[in-house]
Amino acid sequence: MKIGILRELAPGERRVSGTPETVKKFLGLGAQVAVEAGAGLAAAIADADYAAMGAVVGDRASTVAGADIILGVQGPDVTSISGAKPGAWIVAGLNPFVERARIDAYAAAGYEALAMEFMPRITRAQSMDILSSQSNLSGYKAVLDAASEYGRSFPMMMTAAGTVSPSKVFIMGVGVAGLQAIATARRLGAQVSATDVRSATKEQIESLGAKAIFVESVAGIEGEGKGGYATEMSEDYQRAQAELVSGHIAKQDIVITTALIPGRPAPRLISDAQIASMKPGSVIVDLAVEQGGNVEGAVPGEVVERHGVRIVGHRNVPSRLAADASALFARNLYNFLSAFWNKDQNAPVLDEEIGNAIRVTQGGRVVNDRLQSTGA
Ligand code: NAD
Repeated sequence: MKIGILRELAPGERRVSGTPETVKKFLGLGAQVAVEAGAGLAAAIADADYAAMGAVVGDRASTVAGADIILGVQGPDVTSISGAKPGAWIVAGLNPFVERARIDAYAAAGYEALAMEFMPRITRAQSMDILSSQSNLSGYKAVLDAASEYGRSFPMMMTAAGTVSPSKVFIMGVGVAGLQAIATARRLGAQVSATDVRSATKEQIESLGAKAIFVESVAGIEGEGKGGYATEMSEDYQRAQAELVSGHIAKQDIVITTALIPGRPAPRLISDAQIASMKPGSVIVDLAVEQGGNVEGAVPGEVVERHGVRIVGHRNVPSRLAADASALFARNLYNFLSAFWNKDQNAPVLDEEIGNAIRVTQGGRVVNDRLQSTGA
């Protein structure tokens, strides 16, 4: 059983899918591990650190040659991994809805591709969930990005020259990223409020010492759908939410949006008119900018200014904390493969529930239910 850890080739991707820690653990399971030279450099891991743990460090061709499992943060281009075993597994964040052509190419080449972001939200898979581990870091970093763009301080400061008032931070979307953003903004001393469509988050917001801002006026609302994810809301709800939020946003210094709906464009939460109602110098961070954006006018990869408000749209926020993001991502992959490791076969053998959820190609075909409707 040979596991190959690749250097990421996507622009701006600084993370790596394996660390010296996980290399050692894979060797402990009885696998061999090959690492592409330079794979960890952008995440502060030297080739020698992998080699010291027993990995074979070499060029890309030798890393994939004869590999049974190829690990990646993002999916590698199929042409860059020829030489892997027929039927080899590709285990990575494959972004299947967006990178559909690449998934089709994996199928045509006979690889078995496993999309880690399709991991079901069940208790036993929590330690394998790349979305949670990476969102957590994004929520933290979003607050720091906002603070560095903002021309005032977060905490209240009482100085000899007078008092500086605390900033007001509003978090929209209280999933994993939003909860971490609340906690981080509170630690920095801001006055924090937050909103979500799932009523279960109200208690979580309050338990972190923030104020919950919720639409109560639309009957029968429960935004929680399958697997704890949000569903798309009715027009009535969206109107009520916009009204409630409009009054609130105008009084905020910082807004951080994190709202996502799996497989759908991100919901639009902030309009240009709402941006115009904010004080000049305010900052909005749109963590959903790559999924279509929660904020009108947010631009992926840029910080833009509208009506005197800075709108931050960094791409790939976890990659901005590449060392920690890699450590957690690599552990997610190890936790996943080791949980299914069959000692007799010296290989992982998936069970039906998790296998069916994350397998996207097998036997030359695209097999995942979530991808069938988009054509193969
Ligand atoms: P997400 O990234 O899918 O979305 C971010 C948040 O945006 C969610 O809280 C969602 O409800 C909210 N949102 C969507 N549309 C909105 C709108 N129009 N207005 C305001 N908010 C909106 O969410 P997530 O971080 O993946 O977390 C979703 C839930 O799943 C959480 O309860 C989390 O704890 C749970 N979870 C469970 C597991 C597990 O059990 N293995 C793993 C990860 C997350």
